[in-house]
Parts: sequence; C-alpha cells; structure tokens
Amino acid sequence: MLTGKFPTTIGSNSPVIQPQQPFASARTIVPTRQAIALISEHGDPAAEIGKDAAGGQNVYVRQVGEALAKLGWQVDMFTRKSSPDDATIVQHTPHCRTIRLIAGPQTYIPRDELFQYMPEFVTALQKFQQKEGTNYPLAHTNYWMSGWVGMELQRRQNIQLIHTYHSLGAVKYKAVDEIPPIAQTRLAVEKQILEQAHCVVATSPQEMEDLETLVSRLGKIDVIPCGTDVSNFRPISKVEARKQLGISAKEKVVLYVGRFDKRKGIETLIRATSVLRSQLEQGEEIDPQHLKLLVVGGSDPHEADGTERCRIEEIVTELDLTANTDFVGMVGHDRLALYYTAADVCVIPSHYEPFGLVAIEAMACGTPVVASAVGGLKFTVISEETGLLVPPHDVSQFAHAIGRILTDDIWARKIRKQASTRVQQNFSWTGVAIQLSDLYRRLLAQSLLSPGMARGSSATSTLSPKQIVKAS
Ligand code: UDP
Repeated sequence: MLTGKFPTTIGSNSPVIQPQQPFASARTIVPTRQAIALISEHGDPAAEIGKDAAGGQNVYVRQVGEALAKLGWQVDMFTRKSSPDDATIVQHTPHCRTIRLIAGPQTYIPRDELFQYMPEFVTALQKFQQKEGTNYPLAHTNYWMSGWVGMELQRRQNIQLIHTYHSLGAVKYKAVDEIPPIAQTRLAVEKQILEQAHCVVATSPQEMEDLETLVSRLGKIDVIPCGTDVSNFRPISKVEARKQLGISAKEKVVLYVGRFDKRKGIETLIRATSVLRSQLEQGEEIDPQHLKLLVVGGSDPHEADGTERCRIEEIVTELDLTANTDFVGMVGHDRLALYYTAADVCVIPSHYEPFGLVAIEAMACGTPVVASAVGGLKFTVISEETGLLVPPHDVSQFAHAIGRILTDDIWARKIRKQASTRVQQNFSWTGVAIQLSDLYRRLLAQSLLSPGMARGSSATSTLSPKQIVKAS
C-alpha cells in the first residue's frame, strides 16, 4: 500500500492528461538526433562523487549518458537541484547535459525524505518539455523515486519506460538494522515499476533473481551490467603509482573506496585490519607497522555522511589503529586509478551491494578484491580468480582473506592479471551503452508497431515513424 499524499494506484483512476504533441516547435521539427531522458532524482550526474550520497548511481548515469550521446542520442539527464549555487543546466558534451529541476528546498535532503517532492519533480519536468517543445519518447529512470516519476510520465504521455533500481528495498531492508517509515511505500512502488515498465535493467543475474523472487514475476527484465571507464582504470606501474602518492615499497596497502554509509560495512574492515595486525605481530612475514589502511571517500565530519565517518574514526582510535590508517577523503576518478594501482588489495565489506562499481574499477587496475559475497559482487568478483569472496560481517574471514593476498605474492600477481582481463573484456561503459542503445531502439520500434501495447499506460497518443531517428 502506498501511503501519505500519493495516489494509492498509479495510472488507473487518475485523470488522463492529454499528451502534448511531440516535436511541435519549429526548433525540433526535424530533429537530427532522438532526444531521450535519463532520470536520476537524487543521483546528480554532475555532482562530485564520493561525497554525501553521491556514489555509484551518479557515476552510472553520467557515464551511460555520455556513452549514449557518443552513439548518436541526444541525452538529457534530469536530477533534483540540491543547492541554489548549482548551475541549472550543465553541458557535459555537445549532446549530453544535466538539467537540475526545482523540486522541494534547494538543499541536501536524505533519500528517505525525498519522495514527497516527486510530484513537483514531475511538474518541473513537464514544464521543461513544454519550454523546449519536446516530448521524450523514452525515459530511463534510476532508483525507485525516479521510477515513480517515470510512471507518472507514462500515465500522461506515450513514453517507453526503462528502469534500473540501483538498490532494491526488498533486499536492502533484510540487511539493515533500522527500517525507515518510507519502507512500505518504497516496496509498493518498486513492485509497480517492475510490473509497469517496458523493461527493467538488472545489473547482475543476482538482481534479476531477486526481482523475480522477492518483488514480482510480472516484470520484463534484461540483464545489462554496470561498466567502468577502462581507459582510465587500467593496469599501470605500481612503482610509479606509489611514487606519485608517496607510499613506500615496504608498505602493505589495504584500500577502501566509497561512501561512509553503515551498509558499506567499513566497521568490518577496520576490525579485520585489527585482527590481521595482531596475527602479523605473531609472525615474521610482514612488519605490522607496514600494514596501511587507506580509506578513500566521504567528506568533512559536518557533512551528511559525517555521523558514520565519526563512528568509524572512533573505532579506529579504540582499536589503536590510528598509525595504520589514513582517511584520504574524496578522490576524483582522475587520481583514483593511482590509489587502486598502489594498493595490494581493495576491500569491499558491504552488507548489501546491488552492483558495486568499486569492485570493477579496482580489478580493471589489476588490484585483487576481497569482497562480501552479496549482490552484484558475487557476479563481478570470481573468488580465487580475481579476488576472494567472504561472508558479509565476518571479521575473521575478512582478516584471513586479506592476509592471504598480502602474503602470497605469486598468487596475488596471477590474480592481478586475471582481474584486469575480466573487466576489460566484460565491463566497459561503451559495451554497456551499446546494449542499452539496442534495447532503447527495440522498444521505440515496438511502440511504433503496436502503440496500443504500452505497458501500464493510459495515454493513447502515438509517435509517427518520422519521429524516431536512428541512434547509431
Ligand atoms: N568514488 C569516487 N571518489 C571517492 C569515493 C568513491 O569517485 O572518493 C566513486 C567510485 O569510484 C565509484 C562510486 O563512487 O565509481 C561508488 O560506486 P559503488 O557502486 O561502489 O557504490 P555506491 O556509492 O553506489 O553505493
């Protein structure tokens, strides 16, 4: 059941607003490219990554958007404006831009409090369409609230709706201690999206299974993974990377990259590092003083993710790990490859991870990964070949796995090679965008052939064949 001031059903009882005629204005009568909308209500594609709530979704939308533009689409990426200082439109490349819509106060709002502003988001998006004289024939929505926006658009105009969840309430709520009040609404909306979208893009076979078993069997699902920029994240010289970062060859570097969020399991990693240090104190292989934990990501303690950062810092102090730990702060993708390369192992201790971009970035640089055996990580990391998978929360198994990689150089070298090959072959953004582009074209073609078949839509207008421009 949906709660609050939102409609309890989407699409059936609400008044039908007549769709506007697409491409009505002189400006767009002869479009050279097909414009599509990527919608990402909280994951601003133009935001600084690694700070507050900015993470994988922001990276995904931005990278997919730019790669789709290279394939011939006009890509308009919509997000919520969360600061009056942010530009309303950010032009990334000639055919790819971020458009920030005003929906609620222009300040950071935690995700669990954002849903109430989504009707305003829909209105702002429609106003933008009117102003530009366009109607997007296809929207790819990201995260459940954008999915709701997509369903609202679907109800008002003829639109092909593609959805990527990024995080699934049905899985997430099993892994967290506190269930927020928005949970029931989110679960209901996630089910509606699966049943109404023309296609849901699952980023791993595991996610597809979760959708089918935990959400609904009535969905149309394609598996298209997330990707990474393989020209940026690639094997480079470890010696050179360490030189640039001022890390000596003696140090054994354990790396964490990501947001400060409880479900990321940073605490497990800190405690595992402490266990490992105690074990090293018993042996002679590695000097415990040379064990270095680098924590990359997050912002200042007063920022939105500051509470978790403070909690983690307290645990580091309590375990007397201060000398072994560096909180590096946020690092841009331009320098992040240096950190991955300089590290001996990258650890992803998440309790829940829908995909986990960090895993493929690290592996692309040839860095072995120790990760929780959850979600997308079970698909991207091949245990014993590109890293090691261990049960989430399990401090001693994490310590053991990290220790194995740090102490077996020959094996670690083999893993490095296999890890980078796997990513280069399977997870490039270009490859991902080609698969998405094919999907979009298939759905747009279908909508022309059988306009009455629109899933979950009460809108009746159709597009004419002229309005679909071949995207590549
Ligand atoms: N990231 C970054 N700089 C940082 C920390 C993180 O660029 O300081 C990026 C990281 O490279 C990755 C993304 O943030 O691309 C995190 O994505 P992931 O899927 O691993 O986690 P999410 O944030 O979606 O939970």
